[in-house]
Amino acid sequence: HHPKPGDEWAIDPAPLYDAPFYLGSKKLEDKVALITGGDSGIGRSVAVLFAREGADIAIVYLAEDRDAKATKSAVEAEGRRCILVKADVSERDQCRNAVAQTVKAFGRIDVLVNNAAFQIHSSEFAELTEEHFDTTLKTNLYGYFHMAQEAVPHMKPGSAIINTGSVTGIDGSKALVDYSMTKGGIHAFTRALSGNLLGKGIRVNAVAPGPVWTPLNPSDKEADDVSKFGADTPMKRPAQPEELAPAYVFLASPHCSSYITGEILPVVGGY
Ligand code: NAD
Repeated sequence: HHPKPGDEWAIDPAPLYDAPFYLGSKKLEDKVALITGGDSGIGRSVAVLFAREGADIAIVYLAEDRDAKATKSAVEAEGRRCILVKADVSERDQCRNAVAQTVKAFGRIDVLVNNAAFQIHSSEFAELTEEHFDTTLKTNLYGYFHMAQEAVPHMKPGSAIINTGSVTGIDGSKALVDYSMTKGGIHAFTRALSGNLLGKGIRVNAVAPGPVWTPLNPSDKEADDVSKFGADTPMKRPAQPEELAPAYVFLASPHCSSYITGEILPVVGGY
């Protein structure tokens, strides 16, 4: 399925999981995963594939505008448990509560996926307001930091943290100056924290997506941008969220990546 302008943003992942994306050997059997932004886009496809691999899921979501309940049903359809926790990750006490709710429901956290992020395109640097800048930093940097610091005391050796970075954190995007800045910060955070947590047996890695067809990106109001979206990748298209999720399974599962920590894994269509 190659997305076209005018397509629905929300794509039913079921047909995609039928073939190449079904790893299917329970690489996360009985693990507990907390996923921020797990109600939408990449986070949603990670939640569903983690459940298919055997994990129970806590979905941290910000607002009712995405379909958290549908994601919960999709996780439960895989035979796993799912809780929904509403939290703004830019607020420390809401992160603490999200971790507490997860531990109350499932007893521990084996995988933390820091994935919720804020982004607004602005072609003129001078147009970036201080309020916009604050929201970007508080969501994308403070949010990842708070969630990691709150979760780590509940994580045993063998656990993993996966941060969603971005190709913009490597190359920078001229229309996303503040966002690129936070994504570069997330990559450095990943490398630094991986060293810090080695002694606790917790691995820390990042996935750096290229363009992915999710609600984060230009809406149909900007059909021109959408049609160009992904055109500068060698594959000449954006990824579907379901094409990102297996990278998270790989980095989450000790069966796949026990000797990998502090890495940034690009999933960028050859870019
Ligand atoms: P998305 O909009 O579907 O998901 C983002 C999620 O973050 C949403 O559920 C949103 O509600 C949540 N969120 C935003 N602010 C929050 C806050 N303060 N507290 C809690 N939740 C909050 O978009 P997506 O593309 O799936 O994004 C997931 C991750 O992938 C993000 O980190 C994004 O930066 C990254 N990424 C996306 C692309 C892309 O092209 N879509 C490319 C590179 C990286």
